[in-house]
Amino acid sequence: MGMKLNTTRRSFLKLSAAVAGSAALVGSSAMQPGAAMAEGANPGAGDIKRVRTACRGCGKMECGVWVTVQNGRAIKIEGDESAYQSNGNCCTKSQASIQAAYHPDRLLYPLKRTKPKGEEPGWQRISWDEAIKTCHEKLTEVQGKYGGEGVMHMTGTSRFWGMRGGPLASLYGAVNGHGAAQICKGIRRDAGSLTIENGIFFNETVGFPKVYVQWGTGPSISNYDDTCRTITEVIARSEKYILIDPRLNNEGHEADIHLALRPGTDGAMALGWTHLVMKNGWEDHEFCTRWSNGPYLYCEELDINDQPFHTGKFTRGNGLDVKTRLLRECDLVEGGSVSRFMVWDSLANNGEGGLTYFDADEKIGLWEGEKEHHKPTTFTDYVRPSGDIRGDGSDGDVSGRIPDPTQFEIEREPELWYEGEVTLKDGRTVKVKSVWKKYWDDVVSKYTPEYTGEICDVDPKLIEEAVEAWAGQRFDPRFSNGGLHYQLAPEQAGNSMQNFRALGILSAMVGAYDTPAGNRGMTRVPINAGGVAIPANEVAAAKKKKDPNEPFVEQFDKKANIACAEEFPLTRWTARTDAKSCWVAALESKPYPIKGCVAVTGNFMNQSNATYAWNALKSLDFFVDMDLWHAPMTELADIKLPAQHWLEIPGFARISQGAHGAFGANVNCIAPPGEAKFEIEVAQMWFKEAGKPFYDPETGDAWGPVTRYMDHVIKDTGMNHEEFLDKFAKHGWFRAKDEYPEIWGTYKRYETGELRQVDGMVYKEGDHMPGMPVPCMKMEIWSTIMETYLSPETKGLPERLKGLAPSEICLPEYKEPPLSPVSTPELMEEYPFNMTTGRRNPVYFHSEHRQLPWCREQWPVPRVEINPADAEKLGIQQGDWVWIESKDGKIREVADLYHGVKPGVINTEHTWWLPEFSAPTHGWELVCINALVDKEAQDPYTGSSQLRAYPVKIYKATPENSPFGNPCPCDVDGTPCISDASDPRLKAWLPTYEGRD
Ligand code: SF4
Repeated sequence: MGMKLNTTRRSFLKLSAAVAGSAALVGSSAMQPGAAMAEGANPGAGDIKRVRTACRGCGKMECGVWVTVQNGRAIKIEGDESAYQSNGNCCTKSQASIQAAYHPDRLLYPLKRTKPKGEEPGWQRISWDEAIKTCHEKLTEVQGKYGGEGVMHMTGTSRFWGMRGGPLASLYGAVNGHGAAQICKGIRRDAGSLTIENGIFFNETVGFPKVYVQWGTGPSISNYDDTCRTITEVIARSEKYILIDPRLNNEGHEADIHLALRPGTDGAMALGWTHLVMKNGWEDHEFCTRWSNGPYLYCEELDINDQPFHTGKFTRGNGLDVKTRLLRECDLVEGGSVSRFMVWDSLANNGEGGLTYFDADEKIGLWEGEKEHHKPTTFTDYVRPSGDIRGDGSDGDVSGRIPDPTQFEIEREPELWYEGEVTLKDGRTVKVKSVWKKYWDDVVSKYTPEYTGEICDVDPKLIEEAVEAWAGQRFDPRFSNGGLHYQLAPEQAGNSMQNFRALGILSAMVGAYDTPAGNRGMTRVPINAGGVAIPANEVAAAKKKKDPNEPFVEQFDKKANIACAEEFPLTRWTARTDAKSCWVAALESKPYPIKGCVAVTGNFMNQSNATYAWNALKSLDFFVDMDLWHAPMTELADIKLPAQHWLEIPGFARISQGAHGAFGANVNCIAPPGEAKFEIEVAQMWFKEAGKPFYDPETGDAWGPVTRYMDHVIKDTGMNHEEFLDKFAKHGWFRAKDEYPEIWGTYKRYETGELRQVDGMVYKEGDHMPGMPVPCMKMEIWSTIMETYLSPETKGLPERLKGLAPSEICLPEYKEPPLSPVSTPELMEEYPFNMTTGRRNPVYFHSEHRQLPWCREQWPVPRVEINPADAEKLGIQQGDWVWIESKDGKIREVADLYHGVKPGVINTEHTWWLPEFSAPTHGWELVCINALVDKEAQDPYTGSSQLRAYPVKIYKATPENSPFGNPCPCDVDGTPCISDASDPRLKAWLPTYEGRD
């Protein structure tokens, strides 16, 4: 499909003026960086241009920004009014990006270490040729000694482009990777793929939910899902705002209902909400009966290994033999179909009821008796109710189309609450029960408001009030009141997979899936691999032309050699090695040694136990890291490669992450310093050195030029990259809903046939059949993929799941975090506080920006929030350095007394380090909260680390209990860290233009 790009430009200019007041939440404490930068320049002189581009200051949002460039220097960054996903927002991190790009500590040249690991590395400049040659030789050596399993990769979110270490490590047969996705977004995506589609957690808040539910996230600060300034408007616009968080966040002061749950109990809360929805009949009945496997029948008596159901297109790998106890026609009659899933139709036999089926064969996808797919033919425009926000009298704008409902071709009523008996083909009469009823009986029924309230430490009446406000009555009869805006917190408490399945099902159950302001998968446009990374398929295609006759091998078997295959077998399907397994393999050679690593950003401090991870990295035979500067992890590398900052990279199409449908481009603004290179150019050099084509040799030059690659990524738009960038510069951000109305501009894609896409992102590979891209073709409340992979009679159960009933696995049952007052009560005596961590911060993004003066002046030290009543009991005052200690380690942060955290809970900051301290550690061991992590505390399905809900103790740091007699953390020579904005060391980090002008 060629891209039209003929859209009338929308009135975003009006919008930005009207919402200026709401920007205070994200920017009120910021200095005036634009002005500050201009001090060093001559504002009235020289060549000035404004470049429209996409920000990567946090790696999550891709806000649209304008960069002002004077005489080749970036002097100001401000919001782009055309970027409706960010509403013209530009946060402090983005503006501070100028200090990042011109930072005096940028890596300028490839470097090699001259001293042993664990000491100051003695970096020595080398040429790019030598660097790439050495990397290839050393990793080939590791591969020769340990096999491909001996090489791993690491990837972070990055301030440059976002290429993964994976494609480079794959040159050496690597199968394991440590990525941010294991604790951020990856598990959410996987849970979505098991249930409806990849990425169902994205909530389209630009659609303005009538009831805004903010669940474990701080989106006014920064994150995907149309956040920042948009959220402040959403809150102002909504009839009700419900906050679910142990901590009252910035905007939470506006909440109508605040469910301050105990950290780590999000899954129980989700099931408590599900209980009220099911009990009160608040589900979207049409969706649940027609588009979920709720009415499919489960039969305990079936042999799970009997007659697998093969599905090929929309599962990972090249197919799956589904093994299930969901009743199919083949169980009832000889020669019956393996793909016809039985349901009870209450209208059959003149209202007496009878069995019917949905045929989930991927070439059929029809109910019994149907001849063809009935896709919607009429649509209603969804008009975003934004007029009152703009204050300009406009009526809002058309923001997608809602299909008018289609009906069953033959009148039927699939029964959600069915329980009865059927006679199998072998003559046995057996009990069957609908998945919906089984979900209620086995899981949901016990989560009464009282039971949920007891687990979560929340007033049951408040829970009832919240659910009724959200689901009890629709403000618009066509669609739900809004989805669930859920993000990191349910992902990081060691029970992530089931939490996300419960949340996704809950949202879809009330009809909040793929409707305006609902949960909605990822933006899908014809930019390959989301436009955020080297597409793995391009590199794979270069290695081996895809063979359509490739024999069927399940993903489970293909990935049998990943390091966590035995401990967390579902990871064979998700293909995500957990962090702990990487480090165990490196340090203990279990199940085999990992001795080489390719990192393209990434961070050992963000999951698992940081001390263990540090030692593991130190033990590698060869480690190469590509980054912008010297951070703790890079100090363990053998070779460092200098990357280009997002202000420096060549123009490249880019999708803004989230469900809003925005896409645009990163556009070059300034020249890179020294010999810093665009990572795709580096990959190209590396592939050449390895003698492997980087591009598909059949369709183009194997290694270059880089523009060939850029053209490839957007070829489905019908433009080359220059044309695309030119359109973007003139037009501003594109709205996928306008450009691709059939694919992305229409809601309820499960009806229109546009939902069945590979992994929810690859725009062109659907079969256009109504339904979901999961084996049942309906939202899977009962997960057949979990059933196939995690049943004792199929692939076996790993140790951590032994003893669980099928319905505790295949349905999303809640489990306590591995460490909690309930799981490990014995720890509570010594470690009585429940620690949550990882909140968004207006100044930093995870471990980044600690060396940017503007950021560090505003937020010089890590802070721990503690309830004033708790602080008083412990003799802790505002601003005191305190020790935070778990059974696994201790670090220091500064006390911040805040009534918004529950008594008994503390809220700490994560991944701190102190760039002013000496190499190699740069002080991470003094202030990084992950030193407290128990490496074995993991989600039993995915291995994602428990990073929140930790039993800890907290006490005042004193001269007596602190090294160097100083409560403030000190470097090895006793120098204290920067702790306020007056520290002269901050001046040393001001921008330098050396080597650029
Ligand atoms: S939220 Fe992220 S992408 Fe948006 S302006 Fe801030 S740093 Fe940039």
